[in-house]
Amino acid sequence: MTRLARWAVPLAAVALVMAYAYGRRPGPAPFTETRFLMDTLVTVTVWGPPEPEARAAADRAFAALAAVDQEMARVEGTPLWELNRAGGGRVSEALASVLADALAWARRTGGAFDPTVAPLLDLWDIPRGPHPPPSPLAVEAALSQVGWDRIRLDAGGRTVDLGRTRVDLGGIAKGWAIDRAAEALRTAGVTDFIVNAGGDLYVAGRRGDRPWRVGIQHPRDQDRFLRVVAPMEGALVTSGDYERFYEWEGRRFHHILDPRTGRPARGCQSVTVWAPTAVDADALSTAVFVLGPEEGLRLLETQPGVEGLVVAADGTVRETPGFARVAPEVRR
Ligand code: ADP
Ligand code: MG
Repeated sequence: MTRLARWAVPLAAVALVMAYAYGRRPGPAPFTETRFLMDTLVTVTVWGPPEPEARAAADRAFAALAAVDQEMARVEGTPLWELNRAGGGRVSEALASVLADALAWARRTGGAFDPTVAPLLDLWDIPRGPHPPPSPLAVEAALSQVGWDRIRLDAGGRTVDLGRTRVDLGGIAKGWAIDRAAEALRTAGVTDFIVNAGGDLYVAGRRGDRPWRVGIQHPRDQDRFLRVVAPMEGALVTSGDYERFYEWEGRRFHHILDPRTGRPARGCQSVTVWAPTAVDADALSTAVFVLGPEEGLRLLETQPGVEGLVVAADGTVRETPGFARVAPEVRR
């Protein structure tokens, strides 16, 4: 199966989110373009400038996203791949920055976010589709190779010693890439835009005379939004167990792993985090998913300027007191 075919269903859900976000209304339309990048559909939407300028700005945003993907995907030949193979080495400024952010979030989340879960991800191999889960012994073996605190960065952060771990940046690099795309759009003079990478987005400015509106996907009903919101300028990022998963003997196995157990985290169906930057929202959405509703919401409340909404494993929805302020619900 091609990568595209494998994710056909989640992509359809993403397309639905986007269709709503940029819904047809009479009057001027924004410029919008979608490409398949970072294993998902990415849409850049620009309001304001005439089409040639909007297109040129969007091209730059896509180039920024592609550059991050080509460096930080755990795919043979990328610099991240090389770093893992060599067990360390000198890295680019970009990779050094994401690694430093990843380790900072690992520390702040007590290891719920842990970029060294790579051996566990390989063991579970969620993208392969339905297969028996690994044995407890195999999980233990992979778990013994996990530990973010074994990584050493030199003072400038440009020389890395992985301390016999292997790194996966799937829980944070997309957010960092979204921030780089937003930066590229701003540099091109665009102030009103959305960068949407598979439902993880950065929203800036307005859609003409009204705010942008975006749908937060319902974690158990692909055809429904949990909520439609008009987010404040910033990032809105969702981690869910419904995008990349398989079912085996009635149980759901998905791609967000609890580094404490070595198994898919069980406390949540989805977590949406609003933060000023997508890199922070991305790391936090993954961490809160691992921590579960109670501990996760408590963590969010200790983070200044950050809000979030959690759908617990039993389907109940809970949010931080300020979530409705940064992402007010709008009438559909
Ligand atoms: P998505 O990439 O689907 O938007 P997330 O941001 O939640 O979702 O990231 C999930 C990805 O993060 C996984 O595919 C894997 O690469 C990585 N990952 C899984 N568990 C953890 C964890 N506990 N800490 C850090 N990264 C993780
Ligand atoms: Mg994440």
